[in-house]
Formats: sequence, structure tokens, C-alpha cells
Amino acid sequence: MNSENDGWIERLLRETGALLEGHFLLSSGLHSAGYVQCALLLQNPRISRQIGERLAGKLASLSPESVLAPALGGVIIGHEVAVALDVPFRFTERVGESMALRRGFAVDPGERIVLLEDVVTTGRSSLEAMSVAEEQGARIIGAGSSLDRTGGVNPFGVPFESLWTLSLETYPVESCPLCAAGKPVTKPGSRPSHPGS
Ligand SMILES: [Zn+2]
Repeated sequence: MNSENDGWIERLLRETGALLEGHFLLSSGLHSAGYVQCALLLQNPRISRQIGERLAGKLASLSPESVLAPALGGVIIGHEVAVALDVPFRFTERVGESMALRRGFAVDPGERIVLLEDVVTTGRSSLEAMSVAEEQGARIIGAGSSLDRTGGVNPFGVPFESLWTLSLETYPVESCPLCAAGKPVTKPGSRPSHPGS
């Protein structure tokens, strides 16, 4: 694990219990000795507001016209970034297996949009949200997340900003040293019916 951004987020993650250590099955199917539950970090509105302001500061130069986030993970942080940028906020959500804009949300052709997520690992949910916007003619001009777990591979093809890079090691089940040691694996949180993020 390494720290950027003066350790501010790491300190908050530990203080809020959002950073867990153990043996976890991630939604990607990989195993890890650590897990971050960002909802615990963002449950305090003052903290989520500060995180939103810091991320907005990194994305403002792109001059976004709106913020888009995949529900549920991106909703709180996306909203806070939109508040700080003073632009509209919308979210996509799953309808069956696919991602969609519902509730009357629409994007304009040519609209300049930044994508937000709480944690980006493979970026699967964000990429699906990106496709939804692009199918309607909008442009995704940047992406942001509180935490970057991509391992340095930006999946978006546009500028990607985060506040903290988290490099907890992950393992395929077959070569997981924690499995080999017989440590019970737990499956935390999100998307139990949609593995593979
Ligand atoms: Zn394991």
C-alpha cells in the first residue's frame, strides 16, 4: 500500500473502519488481504463533502458540464463532486444485466461529462456508465474516484484522477497464499449477483 495526498485519505479510511485487513473475495473474483468499504468512509457527510471538493479540484480544469456515476458506488462521491463543480449530477443503474439512465435522466449530444466512482479497480461499472452516455452522444472527458485500485492501468482512455492509490495485492484463487494457509475467505459488500468488476 502506498500513500499520496499527504496520507489524509488513508488516515480517514483507518479512522472510519473502511480499510479492513483479512482474507477477502473481491467482486473481481480475486482474493486479497485487504478490503476497502468506501461507504464507511463516505458515511460522514463532512468527510464526503471534503473528498468531493478535493476531487473536483483535480477535475475542474476539464470544464465538465455534468457528473455521471454508476449507482450505487458512485452516487455519494459523484454528487459531492457535482456540488463542488456546481454542475448537474446523474447516475446510471442496473436494469437486469445492463446499465441504464432511468428516472427521466438524459444527457445532451456533445455534453462534457466526468465519470465518478468511489473505488476503481477494473472500472467495469464506470465503463458501462460511459457507454450509456456515449450512446446518447455525450462525451466523457475525464474520470475520478476517491481510491484508485487499478494498479496503474487507467481503463478509461481519458484523464483519470483519484485522491489515493491503493495497491493491496490481489491473487487468483489458485495461487492465493491466504487460501494455501487455510484462512477462511469472506466476501464483503457489493454486487453479489454480478461478479467480475
Ligand atoms: Zn484466498
